[in-house]
Amino acid sequence: MIIAIDGPAASGKGTLAKRLAAHYGLPHLDTGLLYRAVARHVLDARARLDDAEAAERAAEALTAGDLNDAHLRDEGMGDAASIVSAHPGVRERLLAFQRDFAAQLPGAVLDGRDIGTVVCPLAEVKLFITATAEERARRRHLELVGRGVAADFTAILEDIRRRDERDRSRATAPLKPAADALTLDTTNLDADAAFRAALALVDERRKI
Ligand code: C5P
Repeated sequence: MIIAIDGPAASGKGTLAKRLAAHYGLPHLDTGLLYRAVARHVLDARARLDDAEAAERAAEALTAGDLNDAHLRDEGMGDAASIVSAHPGVRERLLAFQRDFAAQLPGAVLDGRDIGTVVCPLAEVKLFITATAEERARRRHLELVGRGVAADFTAILEDIRRRDERDRSRATAPLKPAADALTLDTTNLDADAAFRAALALVDERRKI
């Protein structure tokens, strides 16, 4: 069973993907890490993020080990990742790795922006996770403060809106629900309620 989970930044899709993977005993790939790692390579090479060729070279050189860099999840890398992810050549170079991961038996859980639409269009279960930008910023702010990181709510909200806009409006593989995706709005759900709702959706889809 392939579970494809898409949604905007900080929608909680990563946490849900991890919990669903543990529940069903499946491996999980956070595909945002691939784009974050490409951005890291580009910055380390002192190239510009909007330089398509530099970003394509970085995507070409990427290894699975690059995904273990703990700093990839730092604030700022998400924005950088969304710039390199708009280059079609970068997306193309990352496709095989994602599809190979998804092809494992007995299945896999992948989360990102284009899993249900492009990477795994035949996935058995497709979820699209949403929440209002304000709620997503509130959660991100709370998480950073909880980790003792200085955080500014307005700056986080702006970052989320800028990324949403860039991810939704790019020409290649824009962020959007697949036609057969089930949408889960988590604005008024805590993490446990969101997980229960996601489980119910997965089980509903598996019965079809
Ligand atoms: O999910 P995460 O916030 O780590 O993703 C960082 C950025 O990588 C996103 O804003 C998006 O631009 C890009 N991305 C993508 N396609 C994916 C996963 C992430 O374009 N499947």
